[in-house]
Amino acid sequence: MIAPPGAGKGTQGTVIAEHFDIPHIATGDLLRDHVARRTEVGQAVQGYLDRGELVPDEVVLQMVRAALEPLQGGAGWVLDGVPRTMQQARALYEIAVEMDMTADVALHLQVEDAELVRRLLARARQTGRSDDTEDVIRHRLALYYDVTHPILEWYGERGILVSVDANRPADAVGRQILTALEVLRQVVDRGPDAERRAVDLTSLGAAFGRPSGQS
Ligand code: ADP
Repeated sequence: MIAPPGAGKGTQGTVIAEHFDIPHIATGDLLRDHVARRTEVGQAVQGYLDRGELVPDEVVLQMVRAALEPLQGGAGWVLDGVPRTMQQARALYEIAVEMDMTADVALHLQVEDAELVRRLLARARQTGRSDDTEDVIRHRLALYYDVTHPILEWYGERGILVSVDANRPADAVGRQILTALEVLRQVVDRGPDAERRAVDLTSLGAAFGRPSGQS
C-alpha cells in the first residue's frame, strides 16, 4: 500500500488482511511497538518518528525481511508503510526475489491534502500520537510527495498499480478495494505472464457508494 499519512492505510490494510485471511505488516506499527517496549531499535528510531522523518533503510528493511521470512510459501501478505522511497522499493524487490515472493498489487489510496490534514489533526486529539502535531503532519505530507509518491510511477509501469479514491468513508473505500482485489485475483491466478495494466478507480466514487449530493 502506498498512500500519504492519514489516507487510511492502517484501516484498509486490516480490511484486506481479514478478507483474504493474510497477515498485515505495518512498519509504523512495528516501529511504534519497538519504541513502546524501549528496545534498542526503539531507542534508535524514536527521534525519527517524533520528527516525522524516515528511519534509516537498514532498520526498516531488516524488520520487513524478518516479518516476511516466516510467510514464504504462504497465502500472501499486506505490506503497509513500505516502500517509502525508490531505494526501499528496489531493495524490497530484491528481498522478495530472494524469498521467491512478488507483489501482485500496489494499492494507492488517493486523498486530498485538506482531508488528510483534517483526519490527522482529529487523530491527534484522540490518540496523542507523538507525530500528529500540525508542523510534523505538514512535514510528513511534504516528505510523502517528495520521496514516496514518485514510486507510484514505477508500479504503474509494472502494471500492478491500483488507485482508489480514499476521500470517502472508510467502509465505502473498503468495498471498492475488495472489489478491485477480487477481480485482480483472477488475473494474478492466471500466472506471472498474464498481461497486466494499471487500474485507476479514483473517478469511480459514485459507483461505490459516494452519498448523493457529494462530489
Ligand atoms: P503515516 O503514514 O501516518 O506517517 P506510519 O505509521 O506508516 O504513519 O509511519 C509512521 C512513521 O514511522 C513515519 O513517519 C516514519 O518515521 C516511520 N516509518 C514507517 N515506515 C517507514 C519506512 N518504510 N521507512 C522509513 N521510515 C518509516
